[in-house]
Amino acid sequence: MSRIVYVNGEYLPEEDAKISVFDRGFLFADAVYEVSAVIDGKLIDNAAHLARLTRSMNELKMTAPATGEEITAIQNQMIERNGIDEGLIYLQVTRGAADRDFAMPKDAAPSLVMFTQKKNLTGNAVAGKGISVITVQDIRWKRRDIKTVALLPASMAKQAALDAGANDAWFVEDGFVNEGSSNNVFIVTEDGKIITRHLGNEILSGITRKTVLELAKRENLVIEERAFTPEEAYEAREAFATSASAFVMPVVKIDGHILGNGVPGPIAEKMRKLYIEMAKAG
Ligand code: PMP
Repeated sequence: MSRIVYVNGEYLPEEDAKISVFDRGFLFADAVYEVSAVIDGKLIDNAAHLARLTRSMNELKMTAPATGEEITAIQNQMIERNGIDEGLIYLQVTRGAADRDFAMPKDAAPSLVMFTQKKNLTGNAVAGKGISVITVQDIRWKRRDIKTVALLPASMAKQAALDAGANDAWFVEDGFVNEGSSNNVFIVTEDGKIITRHLGNEILSGITRKTVLELAKRENLVIEERAFTPEEAYEAREAFATSASAFVMPVVKIDGHILGNGVPGPIAEKMRKLYIEMAKAG
C-alpha cells in the first residue's frame, strides 16, 4: 500500500509527490533533516529534534518553512494518515528551488518534505544479539554538528562495513573515534565508566545521546565525555551506539575484537530498557 507523504502543504500518495529538479537539496545537498521515532503513535523526544532542526537551519542561514508548532501538527497528521503505531518520521527542509548557482538565492521558498516508515523499533531483534562494527577514516566535512543531507560519506562507510561482514562503521579521525555512521557511540571501561566523545563540530549532538546520558546520571553511573581511541574501545568491557531509530544498540565486536563475552553488556541492555521505558511513559 502506498504511503501518504507530505510535500509543501499537500498530503499526497508517494507516487504523486514531486519536488523540482532545481531544488537545492537535490543539486547542492543544501538541506537539513531530522528523524523522530514514534512509539504507540506518539513522537519521542520531538521537541529536542525540532530545536536541533532550528539550529541546523540557523547555522546555514536557511529560512524556516514553518514554525515548530506547525511542523509538529504535520508530523501528527502523518502519523494518523499512515496509521503509524511504531516507526519513524523523516522530515527534510531544503533552501528551495532556484536556477543553479553556487551563490545562495535570496528569495527561494524553502521546501518541507516528510515521510513515515513503519518499523518494530522496541522489539528490534538485532538489539538482542548486538552488532559488530569496523572503524573507517572520517572523510566527512568539518561541520558534522549540522544535520545536513550530505550523507554520502556515511552511506559509503555503512556499505564498507556491510561489505566487510560487519553491521556498521565508526568514524576515526586523528586517532580518535568520533561517532558511528548514523549514531553516537559509547564504550564502558573495565572499571565501569561510560565514555562518549565530547560535543563539538566533529560530531552530531545526538538527541538520544543526551537522553541516555541523563538516564545514566540518574542511575549514578560515572560518565566521561572525552575522545577515546579504537585501541581503548577494543579493550572495553562493552560498547553501544545511540540514535533516534535504534535507541540504544549494543556493540559486541570492533574491528574483529570481541568485547566481553561477545554478547550485549549489562549497561547497554540497562540503558536500552530505561530509554524505551522513558519513551513509552511519554
Ligand atoms: N550521529 C550521526 C552522524 C547521525 O546521523 C545520527 C542520527 N541521525 C546520530 C549521531 C544520532 O542522533 P539522534 O540520537 O539525534 O538520532
